[in-house]
Amino acid sequence: MSEVAKRLYYSSPELEFDAVVTDIRLDSRHGDEQLWQVALDRTAFYPEGGGQPWDVGTLTATAKSGATLHVAVERVEEDDAGEVWHFVRKPLVQGTEVTGLVAAERRVDHEQQHSGQHLLSAVFLRELGAKTVSFHLGEESSTIDLALREGMTALSEADITQVQTAANRIVIEGRPLTSHWVDREMAEAMLVRGDLRKLPERTGPMRIVQMQGIEFNACGGTHVSNTGEIGAITIRRIEKVRQGWRVEFCCGMRAVRSARHDYLLLRELGLTLSVGAADLHSRVEKLLAEKKAMAKELKSLGSVQR
Ligand SMILES: [Zn+2]
Repeated sequence: MSEVAKRLYYSSPELEFDAVVTDIRLDSRHGDEQLWQVALDRTAFYPEGGGQPWDVGTLTATAKSGATLHVAVERVEEDDAGEVWHFVRKPLVQGTEVTGLVAAERRVDHEQQHSGQHLLSAVFLRELGAKTVSFHLGEESSTIDLALREGMTALSEADITQVQTAANRIVIEGRPLTSHWVDREMAEAMLVRGDLRKLPERTGPMRIVQMQGIEFNACGGTHVSNTGEIGAITIRRIEKVRQGWRVEFCCGMRAVRSARHDYLLLRELGLTLSVGAADLHSRVEKLLAEKKAMAKELKSLGSVQR
């Protein structure tokens, strides 16, 4: 078997790269639809993993005649042998030289949510002793599931405000994120010292991502280069779930979009009820009280008529 693709995203944020097709196979999971999986000698495409979704983008091949073929990369997966497969709808034969281009907007968005998760998890641990047990990066918002420290039975809105403020302070500080490789022995020593909170089970060298002054994390994902690039972090819904507490959050442009969405919603409600956002709650309470009183009056009128 040929060597697996060199992962360019481990060491470089560059999204454009040159590569050679090393293998191709037909994806059998899609029936009649012709979907191909292409392997390259090197790639900047991140495959799905660690809660972070795959990159999309294009592969462009140029024929000797100068004609170009653009092929969309719709999905990227890593197999058990560590090979990265790029899912495309046109076959690219082995030996074809291609230029790969990762779609920037989706990658940056994923980096903001994923790096924001590292930061939030570190701050939840530092401020409240709450450990992150899982992470999900969704289409609109992301969630982390927390196990609260012993003796702590619930997360309050005051806890959330405290964590959100502390996390955003670290965003403003613009702390660098860097990565380096260590062997398993060194990683285990970091675990014993408490520098790392957990280690993946696999053997071999490990990539350690450091957020300066905040945390070390054994992680193969893509990250922003400093905490400032995460942008604003807003924590939204919190709910009790079976395994602990689920915290929903948005980072970067998602936080900006959700704040705008919420403002417009409040403004619309205010216009409907002819009050400013600050008075919405008291206005709605007054309306509900009036409704209750009217219902009572109707009921008494009904009993008089009978
Ligand atoms: Zn990471």
